[in-house]
Amino acid sequence: MTYIRQLRTSKRILMGPGPSDVHHRVLNAMATPMIGHLDPEFIEVMDDIKEMARESFLTKNELTFVVSGPGSAGMETCLVNLLEQGDEAVICQHGVFGGRMKEIAERCGAKVIHVEAPWGEPIDPEDVRKALQDCRPKIVAIVHAETSTGVLQPLEDISRMAHDAGALFVVDAVTSFCGTELRVDEWDIDAIYTGTQKCLSAPPGLSPVSFSPKAVEAINNRKVPVQSWFLDLTLVQDYWKGAKRAYHHTAPVSALFALREAFRIVLEEGLKHRWQRHWENHILLKEGLEELGFEFLVSPAFRLPMLNAVKIPVRLDEAEIRGRLLSEYNIEIGGGLGVLAGKVWRIGLMGESSTPNHVHLLLSALKEIMATTK
Ligand SMILES: *Cc1c(COP(=O)(O)O)cnc(C)c1O
Repeated sequence: MTYIRQLRTSKRILMGPGPSDVHHRVLNAMATPMIGHLDPEFIEVMDDIKEMARESFLTKNELTFVVSGPGSAGMETCLVNLLEQGDEAVICQHGVFGGRMKEIAERCGAKVIHVEAPWGEPIDPEDVRKALQDCRPKIVAIVHAETSTGVLQPLEDISRMAHDAGALFVVDAVTSFCGTELRVDEWDIDAIYTGTQKCLSAPPGLSPVSFSPKAVEAINNRKVPVQSWFLDLTLVQDYWKGAKRAYHHTAPVSALFALREAFRIVLEEGLKHRWQRHWENHILLKEGLEELGFEFLVSPAFRLPMLNAVKIPVRLDEAEIRGRLLSEYNIEIGGGLGVLAGKVWRIGLMGESSTPNHVHLLLSALKEIMATTK
C-alpha cells in the first residue's frame, strides 16, 4: 500500500489574480461543525448571506443569492437564464473573460454581436452605441474588472445605452466586487455575478449573483426552459427564497460558513473604506514598481487597483523570477493570459492581500532577485 503523508502546504503570500489571502476568522468559520443544509440554523445562515450580499452589491434586488460554483458558474447562470435560441446578445470583449462570456452566449444559441477593444484598453462606449444601431439585443454584457489585462471598465454610459436599446445590462464583477466602486442599483445593472476568492477573500468555489426585477421577469417569460437543470433560476430560487426552501441540491455548507464571515469582515470595514484601501495600496505598489523600472500595461485612468498588470522588460526571464518569488519567498504573482502570456505580470492586491506589508514584501523580494539575475 502506498502511504500518502498528511497534507501540508507552504504558507504562501497570495498576490496573483486570485485566490487572495484568507483571514483566519474566515478559515475558522469553515471549520464550524457540520449541520444539515435544510437545518433551520442553516437557513438563517443563508438569510444572513443574502442580506450581506445585497448590502455589498448596493442593491435591493430580491433575487440575490449565491450560486454553488465558482465565478464561471455565476457567469453561466446569468447567460443561460437570460438567453434563448435566436436572441441577439451584444458581448463586449477586452480580455479573456469577455471571450468566455461570448463562448457561453454562443452555446446558448444566441446571435452574438461582438464589440472588442485591444487588450489593455477599455471598451469604447461609442463602439457599443454603433453596434446597438443594427440590432435589438436581449442583453448587453461586459466585464467590469478585466483580470487578464488590469483594465477597469467604466459602466454607466454603456448601461444607459443598453437600456435605451431595450436590453438588459449584464456585468461580470468577479474581480471588482468589494475592491472598487460598484453600485448595482444606481448603475442600473440587471444581472451581475462575482466570485469569492478575489476581493472578498473567501475560499474559491462560490458565486454571489443578483438579478433586477426586470431580469427576473425576462426569465419568467422564457419560451423554453433553461437547458441547464442545475443553473435554472426558476428552480434554484425556490431553494434560496422565502419560506419554501425546497431541496434543490446540497449546499456547500462549510464554504457558505466561510463566505458569511468574509461578508461580515467586508461590512465591518465598510465598502468605501475598502475601496479606498485598495486604491492606496495600488498607489504604493505602483510607485515601487516604477522605481524598479516597470511600466504598467494600462493607462492611468483605467487601471484596476486590485490587479496590476506590468510589462516585463525583454531582458528579464519572467518565468524564472516568478518561480523564484514562489520558491524562495513564498510569494505568488500571476503571469500573463492569452496574448499577454510571457509579456506581463499580474500582481494582485485583493482583499486581505491589499496591505502595505504585501507591497513592501514583494518589492523587497523583487529587488533582491533582480540584483542576482542581471
Ligand atoms: C476569476 C474571474 C472569473 C472566473 O472565476 P472562477 O472563479 O475562476 O470561475 C470570471 N471573470 C473574471 C473577470 C475573473 O477575474
